[in-house]
Amino acid sequence: MEKKGALLIISGPSGCGKSTLLKNVYKEIEDYYFSISTTTREPRVGEKDGVDYLFVTREEFEEDIKTGQFLEWAEVHGNYYGTSLKPIKKAINEGKLAIFDIDVQGHEIVRKKMDDKVVSVFITTPDLKELNNRLTSRGTDSQEVIDRRVENAKYEIKYFQKYDYFIVNDDLEKASKELVSIANIARVKSKLFDKEEVLSNWIN
Ligand code: ADP
Ligand code: 5GP
Repeated sequence: MEKKGALLIISGPSGCGKSTLLKNVYKEIEDYYFSISTTTREPRVGEKDGVDYLFVTREEFEEDIKTGQFLEWAEVHGNYYGTSLKPIKKAINEGKLAIFDIDVQGHEIVRKKMDDKVVSVFITTPDLKELNNRLTSRGTDSQEVIDRRVENAKYEIKYFQKYDYFIVNDDLEKASKELVSIANIARVKSKLFDKEEVLSNWIN
């Protein structure tokens, strides 16, 4: 049977370790496509346009909203973030696992639009104090930006049970193993398979 395209949504407070975990497990995930979001936030030191994000102005983002380019978009920490529809459709048609790192609002929207194809995981630190420590030691954001992210984390954590899976990223190796298992499970969700095609092997 043909491999079906699927969606893996990853959310969790900024600084919980989503990018670190993904980098750690990519080599173990088969045939994936990582969705590069568009954002109006300033690039961090070391981030590259077209690799980490597509960095645009607020005017450009608003134009893309108007012309229906986004599968979903949201305002997070005062900046716009969005997922372009076209590359996601392409990845699904090619039977890939499309991986998204999006916030809780984006998760709700994609769930409504493509529930049959979605598996989702909420990732977090053991507590707020550790989140603060990680944001501080990452050293990429000002104190004001860190405070805003910590504040937003208190809102985001309330949504964790809307997700299929929950990973506490304490021990990186343990969390990585859990993430690989979830990526594998996302490919065998029953609703991904065409009912007629499956039944044709059973009913004449
Ligand atoms: P996110 O992508 O969720 O914003 P990052 O991947 O940038 O978060 O991680 C934030 C910081 O936490 C980085 O400095 C990273 O090295 C560190 N980090 C990630 N996972 C762990 C872990 N399991 N234990 C300790 N530090 C971690
Ligand atoms: P950061 O600025 O730390 O890279 O990301 C901030 C937050 O925006 C994170 O919670 C991340 O998951 C979310 N985010 C990144 N890209 C998108 C996107 O395309 N859509 C939505 N809704 N959220 C996103």
